[in-house]
Order: sequence, then C-alpha cells, then structure tokens
Amino acid sequence: MQKLTKIIATIGPSSDSPQMIAELIKAGVNVFRFNFKHSEVEWHSERIERVNKVAKKLGVHVGTLIDLQGPEIRINMPEDNIEISEGELLLFGQDVYKGKEKGFSITHPQIIEHLENDQLILVDDGYYTFRVVRKGKKTYLRSETTCVLPTRKSLNIPGADFPFPVLIDRDFEGLKLAARHAIDFIALSMVRSSKDLRIVRREATKYGVTGKLVAKIETQKALDDIEKIIEASDGIMIARGDLGVEIPIERVPFYQKMIIKNCMMQGKFVITATQMLQTMIDNPFPTRAEISDIANAIYDLTDCIMLSGETASGKYPLKAVQVMGKTATFYEPKTDDEVRNKIMFSVRDTSALICDAAFDLYRDYVKANQDVAGFMVFTQSGHTATLLSRYRPNVPIFTFSPNADVCESLSVNFAVEPVVFSFKDTAEVNQKELSRAVALLKKKGHISERRGKLIVVHGDQWGRGSGATTIRII
Ligand code: PGA
Ligand code: MN
Repeated sequence: MQKLTKIIATIGPSSDSPQMIAELIKAGVNVFRFNFKHSEVEWHSERIERVNKVAKKLGVHVGTLIDLQGPEIRINMPEDNIEISEGELLLFGQDVYKGKEKGFSITHPQIIEHLENDQLILVDDGYYTFRVVRKGKKTYLRSETTCVLPTRKSLNIPGADFPFPVLIDRDFEGLKLAARHAIDFIALSMVRSSKDLRIVRREATKYGVTGKLVAKIETQKALDDIEKIIEASDGIMIARGDLGVEIPIERVPFYQKMIIKNCMMQGKFVITATQMLQTMIDNPFPTRAEISDIANAIYDLTDCIMLSGETASGKYPLKAVQVMGKTATFYEPKTDDEVRNKIMFSVRDTSALICDAAFDLYRDYVKANQDVAGFMVFTQSGHTATLLSRYRPNVPIFTFSPNADVCESLSVNFAVEPVVFSFKDTAEVNQKELSRAVALLKKKGHISERRGKLIVVHGDQWGRGSGATTIRII
C-alpha cells in the first residue's frame, strides 16, 4: 500500500545528517521544515542544500518549508534562568535590566503597560503560569508555580491583540534565504488576520520568493477570521501547540475538524501539526492516544501531518516517521471515500467540473469492484492535481509536469505523486506520449503489470495553462 497522506519532518540536530535525511525520505517524509525560531540563518542554509542534494540523489521530489517566527513573544532576562517560588511577585519589563529587582522582560516590551490586572500569562506552552499584578506604573507577575524559568521561552497572552509588525528582522533574512534556495513553502507564525497574509505576500514577492504561503492558525484572533485567512493563503497549518495555549485546550479537536473542512471547501491544503508523537522524543514506542490522534487526523481528511521535536531533537526520529507512515497507511482506506456527502466543493470552472466527473468515474469503478491503479494528471501549474486531491481518493494522483518546482510545490497535497515529464515535439496528449508516461510509472515502480484502470485528466494542449478538458481511461 502506498502512503497518500503527506508527512512533514522538522530538521534539527537529530535529523540533519545526509544519511538520516535519506532514511527519513525513504520512510515517507515529503517535506522538511526549517524552524526559524531556532539556529542561525547559515545553519538553515546548509541544511536546505543538504536536503536538496539528498533528494536529487534519490530521484524524488521533496519539499522545503521555512517557518518564520512572526509576531510571537519570547522571554528576555539578564540571567540564563531564575528560580521562582509559587506566589512570588516578579517585575515584568525592561527595568529588570537595571538589576535591582528580580523578574523578566519580553521581545515586545511595549505591550506590558497595556496589560490588565489579573490577565493570565502562559510560558513555554503553558508549563509555567502567571497573573498580572499592576502596582502604579509598574507591572508584576505573580507566579502560580515553583520552578526554574529559563530565558528565551515562548510566552502567550491568551485573547490579546497587539499591533506588532507581522514580520521581525530575522524573518526578512528568512525571506531572502527562501528566494535564494527557491523554497517551496513559507509558513507564517501567529497570523492574526487575512491582512497579515497580504502584507507577507507583498514582502515575499518583493524579495522574489516563489514558494506558497502557509498561515499557521494558533490564536483565537486567527479563528475569528478563519475563512478570509484561508482565502488569502495557499495552505493552512493547524498549529495545535500554541492554539492549545491560546484557546481552551479541549476545543482544539473541534477547530481541527472545522479548519480541515473549510480548507477542503476552498481547495487549499491543510497540515495538522504538533505533538502527534510527542512521547517518542524520549521513547521508542508511541502512546495509544498518539496513534489515535494520527488516526483521527486521517479521518478528518487532513492533507499532511507534521513532526516537530520528534524529528528535530528527539531520540527516535526515524521510528517516529515510520510509526506515522504505518498509521496513516492503515487508516486511509477506512475513511469514507464519498467526501461530497460531507463537503460542498466549489466547482467553479471547467477544470473543477472535469475533476468532479473523473472522481465520479473512480467511485463507479470502485463500486463495481474494478481495480483503479490511480489518476494521471497532466498539468502546467499543478492546479488540476490540487482540484482532484481534495476528493481524497484512495489511489495516487500521478501528476506530470515539466517543471520540477511545480512537482515540489505539490509535496504537501494528499495523494499527489509528482513526476517530472516532458513531451517530445508536441503539446498534444496523444497515445504515444501517454504510453511513455505509463512506462515511466512502471519503471519507477509506482504501478505494476497487474490489471487496473488509470483515469487520465488533461487539457487540449499540455503546457499551455489551458486547464483540464478531457478524461480518458487507460
Ligand atoms: P511552532 O508552531 O512549533 O513553531 O510553535 C506550531 C505550533 O504552535 O503548533
Ligand atoms: Mn506555534
């Protein structure tokens, strides 16, 4: 069985050797994520080159994703860490650098004076909690835990909305790097509204970035504007780490389902992220609950599932990817394949209608117990492949494009198996060229000699960007 759900693995010290990168790709990783919250720009640059080199050697299309830090808040303090007791009052603000009072500041200290008394403050994904205590001009935090608090930890102020710029200085370095390496995906942390996406798109274009924009949904503010954010982005990441801190944690699965459904309706890809195999950072086996979480994301019809610390700094990066891959492959055939009972797709143009009809054919064959080996799509921009992918068929969508960048940009889409391919002296999708394409699939081991239909979708002319007009059965 071929895995159809895509996997993103975050690169870090546990996974950045060429050998490990190769192993992870063979185990099912489709996209590598470069998290700009950590490491220097040069560090990332070297690893991006490494990933591209390994992928080329293996002859596969692997995507690259740069995750920009965006307007998130982190702790600053003069020390590396401070010891705190429950109930202790700590000074909150830049005055800690005067060295008279114990406490800490943050990366955007200008917001501190706007905080209301008793506001809840969560540090390091809610591991440490504090309440704001105002005393005249000074702001304090009362600790609710006894702990040793390290500097640089993330800090959340649930429900807060501050007018930070959407990109920080380091993010501009990230954009430059993305342009230099033709990065396929740019993810933006802490998106607050569709306006943030428009600003980032404008900046990205200025820097010559060609990658797709991914909005990370991690605050209530983003949920309030979710439909417009999906519209303004190319894809969505359900960033459950921060989301589970910013909103009541029990609501996260509800929003996961809601966001996936909305993305499918709008024809955008969706990534379910964070803590999917958290305990495998330290243990060689997952918990039952973690397997259930992956299965649930598959039932929700996500395009893509993601590993963070598990592959970046965990002890078992390869095992984690294998567990994820096996679980996804087992559950994919078990999801109801008539998604149209659940989701109203916008079928706006001829390409979309053709894909709808191609999926009908697929369903009819399956109902009649006839084997379908997959779809074959000939596309210029990749658009037709994404239109078919949203139906979540239980077979691969072999996607032929002359452009390697297009192939890589499809590395997140469910079931899409990109193949670089060009026609000889013609733009017409004729019998001869189709036979060559089928032969290539056989050679790559994607299909076997066994009987099985291939449902082919193409336009009048290939490579002219005219969209799909034709369905054929091979
Ligand atoms: P992060 O984003 O790992 O960059 O914080 C993902 C999340 O918050 O879930
Ligand atoms: Mn986050």
